[in-house]
Amino acid sequence: MKYIYLKTIGLVKPTILENLVKSLDMLFPFQSKLIVDEENPLFAFEPKRDQYYAKKMIEKLAGELPLDCEKLVGITDVDLCTPVLTFVYGEAQLSGNVAVVSLNRLRQEFYYLPHNDALLVERLLKECIHELGHCYGLFHCNNSKCVMCFSNSIISIDNKKKNFCVGCKEFVDKTIRKENYA
Ligand SMILES: [Zn+2]
Ligand SMILES: [Zn+2]
Repeated sequence: MKYIYLKTIGLVKPTILENLVKSLDMLFPFQSKLIVDEENPLFAFEPKRDQYYAKKMIEKLAGELPLDCEKLVGITDVDLCTPVLTFVYGEAQLSGNVAVVSLNRLRQEFYYLPHNDALLVERLLKECIHELGHCYGLFHCNNSKCVMCFSNSIISIDNKKKNFCVGCKEFVDKTIRKENYA
């Protein structure tokens, strides 16, 4: 039996993660499991930008994969970036095993709005599914309602559904069958 692992990178509120695990279980034919690692991700910190490099987190997570791991998504509260992008909500290895997602810009507080746990979980779920889609080989989708649509604003995240469109879903199902039952 293989699992989709969710692994914290630094402190993340447990109730958020419990809700995330439950929702992911309904979407993929694998159970989700949580690994709590509260160690500060200083290894990925870039002082010049006061942000953290997503790729460095992915590299570290890739070196610590459990044997029964189907995919692993790192969840962090710190702000992520790449060398060429001012920020990212998340990043994934295309057709790989590892992704990382940040809660930082998914919070209402980031936009000076009152805290909303339900909305935060919903956004986090969408970003996790999106990055898992990349892990299953999907590129971005032109359907603005599809979870694989590219988002560079919180409005576009809120605008999309927490599911794949028919075409993307078919692709993911096929990849899972090929990788696991061929
Ligand atoms: Zn993407
Ligand atoms: Zn799609």
